[in-house]
Amino acid sequence: MIPLSEPSLDGQSWRYVKDCLETGWVSSAGPFISKFEQQVAAYTGARHAIATINGTAALHISLLVAEVKPGDLVLTSNLTFVASVNAIRYVGADPVLVDVDEATWQLDLDLLERFLSESCQLRDNTCYHMESGRRVAAIMPVHVLGNMGDMHRLQQLADQYKLPIVEDAAEAMGSRFKGQHAGTFGNLGCLSFNGNKVITTGGGGMILTDDDELARRARHLTTQAKTQPEEYFHDEVGYNYRMPNLLAAVGLAQMEQIGRILRIKRYLAHRYQKLLTAAHPKVRFQQVLPEVTPNNWLQTVRIPNREAIQAKMTECEIQV
Ligand SMILES: *Cc1c(COP(=O)(O)O)cnc(C)c1O
Repeated sequence: MIPLSEPSLDGQSWRYVKDCLETGWVSSAGPFISKFEQQVAAYTGARHAIATINGTAALHISLLVAEVKPGDLVLTSNLTFVASVNAIRYVGADPVLVDVDEATWQLDLDLLERFLSESCQLRDNTCYHMESGRRVAAIMPVHVLGNMGDMHRLQQLADQYKLPIVEDAAEAMGSRFKGQHAGTFGNLGCLSFNGNKVITTGGGGMILTDDDELARRARHLTTQAKTQPEEYFHDEVGYNYRMPNLLAAVGLAQMEQIGRILRIKRYLAHRYQKLLTAAHPKVRFQQVLPEVTPNNWLQTVRIPNREAIQAKMTECEIQV
């Protein structure tokens, strides 16, 4: 069987994991966590990077610190993995699913703008959905398959309607818009290091933010809302969402490989595009804006006879 995705675990993984096992630093404290966070912050250009147990937990905490409350609405993409909307439901809010653009498969900003201008209203610097009277609390753009939309236009819309942006950049490690890394356009951005993503820690995630206070809040909530290192005092409901040192060790080794991994993905993407487009004129790829450098995470196409091709590929022992 040829699998759909396979992690590329070369480099120093073995040495770093062995170090954890030998020193006993395997759990939620240890030197690899802050090293991995620093590497991801430096690579993405984010001021703060807070490692979490997975990408879904990163989204959950980001929505909490963005002050999304029960009963609120959050605008997000209708083409995404279920974790985006699950996180919105964890905080008691409801998703408003906005269609994606036919060409790029990212949030359709014309539709988003129309929804905000025709169905919403600003009152006291707060955005309300007029028909339901509910507060619109945030926009969660998803960088679907590692591609990106026009982030500057999205930022302008968010500013105009006083909405925080929480980016679901789970699939977008290594993707950039005008040279700026995915996950750093919003108030908060979330990465995933699940086994099928561009780089992996087995399971893991990261919260990115430039805001000192949001970073402090995120760190606090992911570590059980503990107020002091020695005493067991907790000042609110917290979560056990921190990434263990053992996984951060793998993450650090992966960060040392990311340039190579992205180069291979770019090469493979070009090959798929060239060969498939030549052989099958009805195959449609995701269009990429000229300002975007995608990470080419997962080669995905639109085709008329999906089921038949899927069945044939399965018969040939190629996972699709
Ligand atoms: C993978 C993914 C997540 C969740 O990340 P996990 O690390 O698996 O929890 C969230 N959103 C999108 C779009 C994803 O692809």
